[in-house]
Amino acid sequence: MSEQLDAPIVIIGSGFAAYQLIKAIRRSDQRVKIQVFTADNGDDYNKPDLSHVVSKQQLASDLVRASGLEMAEQLNFELFANTFVDSIAPEQQQIMVAGKAYSYAKLVMATGGRAFVPPMSGNAVDRIVTLNSLQEYQAAEQELALAKRVLVIGGGLIGSELSMDLATAGKQVITVDPCEQLMANLLPEYIATELSKLMQQLGVHLALNTKVTRIDLSNDSSNNSGCLQVTLANGESFIVDTVISAAGLQANSLLAKQAGLMVNRGIVVDNQLQTSAMDVYALGDCAEIGGKVLAYLQPALVCANALAKTLLGHETAVVLPAMLVKVKTPHYPIQLAGQAVHQVNRWQLDIDSQGSCVQAFDTDERLQGFVVAGQHMSKAFGLLKHLGKPVA
Ligand SMILES: Cc1cc2nc3c(=O)[nH]c(=O)nc-3n(C[C@H](O)[C@H](O)[C@H](O)COP(=O)(O)OP(=O)(O)OC[C@H]3O[C@@H](n4cnc5c(N)ncnc54)[C@H](O)[C@@H]3O)c2cc1C
Repeated sequence: MSEQLDAPIVIIGSGFAAYQLIKAIRRSDQRVKIQVFTADNGDDYNKPDLSHVVSKQQLASDLVRASGLEMAEQLNFELFANTFVDSIAPEQQQIMVAGKAYSYAKLVMATGGRAFVPPMSGNAVDRIVTLNSLQEYQAAEQELALAKRVLVIGGGLIGSELSMDLATAGKQVITVDPCEQLMANLLPEYIATELSKLMQQLGVHLALNTKVTRIDLSNDSSNNSGCLQVTLANGESFIVDTVISAAGLQANSLLAKQAGLMVNRGIVVDNQLQTSAMDVYALGDCAEIGGKVLAYLQPALVCANALAKTLLGHETAVVLPAMLVKVKTPHYPIQLAGQAVHQVNRWQLDIDSQGSCVQAFDTDERLQGFVVAGQHMSKAFGLLKHLGKPVA
């Protein structure tokens, strides 16, 4: 395929992954032409801050670190803001926007993901709020500020963080999850139980082992108009002001799929982040690397640094280090790494009044994962160095 030498590097998306990539490119090359097409306005913000906007009484605008225009000026790229890319044509090395074709030399898809909303019935399903972007928070900030009773669908990492934040802000919170414990894929049962106790002390009602089946406008005249009646599979029913879905993330992979690229849980990439199409790469929450979608900042940063080198002509494979995940539940802070829940041969629990440390070992007595909570968080970096190794 003839490379379009005059054409720019085109990036779709202006989230953390896209901006880390541009920063890494600019550290080595000030001149290569970059175009960014983004469905939002390109404002730069720290998405994890969305976990505590309610308790901090922040507006979406408080989170903006630099506008899209400022980012374009600082990092010397051409910004196409509020511009949705309709399709990509890898054979022609072009993207299509509102009927117009734009050529690229290299294309990077940094299209992120969207919050998953589980299927349910009822006449108010369209009232469900999602909080996976600044724009979504902006659309809901007034409703969330006024809401007294909030039901959170999902007791995973984001659902638990949001529930604790809403309860800290004085709201009545109900958290619903189909699993028997919070953060079932990340936390061993003991730590999840401790987290549950803390949440309950904050007034959170945990409805575990069940799911939402219906959301309807409440017709109870004793309630304010606009309230929602939420029905659970276990027969419980609640009147709330707002429902948030934090039930997981789905990669934005439609553009790739429609273009015939290999897509699984995310856009499938090799160890240089190239998709199944030549000169088309994927990065961040939309990408599946080594069979996994790693929807966190640190892997996106490591990938962005490697991809910048590849795009500038030095083919570089991504090497992901062992990474820590911080759970932003300030009343019971937790850090974890590796796999401490599934396919564990043996757990070692170290519990005292200061907190907990759970280490998970495989059949060869190698540390395959750990979770530390409370004061034991100081052990996290030491344990991270031992991940994958036998512990003496
Ligand atoms: C509440 C919350 C708390 C979190 N906390 C943490 C944490 O503590 N630690 C951590 O590591 N991670 C955390 N994360 C995850 C982390 O924020 C994400 O992994 C990261 O921000 C994803 O960045 P991204 O650039 O891949 O995607 P996004 O930020 O989603 O960006 C995607 C971009 O693509 C654009 N786009 C999509 N489709 C199109 C299209 N067709 N045309 C044009 N533009 C398009 C969008 O407009 C957007 O600009 C959290 C996430 C949430 C929601």
